[in-house]
Amino acid sequence: MKRSFDVDSILKTLRSVFPTDKDFISLHEPQFSGNEWNYVKECLDTGWVSSVGKYVDKFEQQLAQYTGVKRAVAVVNGTSALHICLRLAGVSYDDEVLMPAMTFVATANAVKYCGAIPHFVDSEEKTLGVDPRKLSTYLAEIADVSSKGCINQLTGRRLKALIAVHTFGHPVDLSSLSELCNNYNIALIEDAAESVGSFYKEKHTGNWGLVSAISFNGNKIITTGGGGAILTNSEEIGALAKHITTTAKLPHKWAFNHDMVGYNYRMPNINAALGCAQIEQLPVFLKEKRKLAERYQFAFRRMEGISLFKEPVFSKSNYWLNTILLDKDYADGRDMLVEVTNNNGIMTRPPWTLMHKLPMFKKCLHMDLTVSEDLEKRLISIPSSASLGVMDANV
Ligand SMILES: *Cc1c(COP(=O)(O)O)cnc(C)c1O
Repeated sequence: MKRSFDVDSILKTLRSVFPTDKDFISLHEPQFSGNEWNYVKECLDTGWVSSVGKYVDKFEQQLAQYTGVKRAVAVVNGTSALHICLRLAGVSYDDEVLMPAMTFVATANAVKYCGAIPHFVDSEEKTLGVDPRKLSTYLAEIADVSSKGCINQLTGRRLKALIAVHTFGHPVDLSSLSELCNNYNIALIEDAAESVGSFYKEKHTGNWGLVSAISFNGNKIITTGGGGAILTNSEEIGALAKHITTTAKLPHKWAFNHDMVGYNYRMPNINAALGCAQIEQLPVFLKEKRKLAERYQFAFRRMEGISLFKEPVFSKSNYWLNTILLDKDYADGRDMLVEVTNNNGIMTRPPWTLMHKLPMFKKCLHMDLTVSEDLEKRLISIPSSASLGVMDANV
């Protein structure tokens, strides 16, 4: 049966969660309350703003330490991190790469940059990420492991990698997915762009993939203005990641020698300086965001037709973006709710249009996407800046 909301009471409930002195609440804004000015000023004062300087090394070390990986390589953005992750996993022309249809467009774009073909798979409601059981059934139908790797019998092409996305910061079921990838000889890549500060069974996301990508765009949990990083637990892959993201230049005092086609994807020192200041505050941001998530859950606990998405049981999420999940009977009200909240100074967003519906990916392969199609209609992201978590609960 179709039902509709009491929009006024939803607006009132949302407002009860926010500080009262704000008349516009953005979806996610950065917070610079630490050493940002000091570190960036030092870059300007010393002239080290670009491709050389101490902050890149420092930021990479801090990232590796925080996430627990062997090596982190800082790059210009999350998209370039994904691009290099795919290259490092051996993805090349005419390969197929499995990925959720419900993701940000960068995931699919990066596959196209390699001349490879996105192959979209379904997500599950429990994690909002790739459903390992459904994928397992699907691979049993279409895949064949041979000496050339895992072959899609429908196309004859190689299924080279799976990109698992931690949607809105919530960890996917990594142990099931990595087991599945092992069985089929498919490389696992984590798109951890949104999940800095999210842990899967006590370990930081980004540790299960052969390589993983994170993003420090302005809307992410910590920002470097624009930026990203590649994470890996292989020293060898880490060294190669550094080499190909820095034009593949051979070290020499003055000579320009390069041993392969490299990329100018290095993160500038001034951005890394910002990153060093931001990562110092990450534990505080995480606490504030968790508080905000709890306040949302409490405020909406009795609201009919609406629930707040909660972190999967096996994880500790960063709650990067809090998300409303509408009951199926109420899904028709989604667009109206998005419109009314935005018109009333509360920024909300529907999820991304599913990848297989975008013109450039329409012809790509996909499995049955019933759950993604259903979730697309029922999700709304709501304001989630860490600063909103600071105030005392007034609900
Ligand atoms: C932000 C994001 C990216 C891309 O990161 P940029 O730094 O914006 O290039 C990739 N994947 C997902 C899921 C993202 O949210």
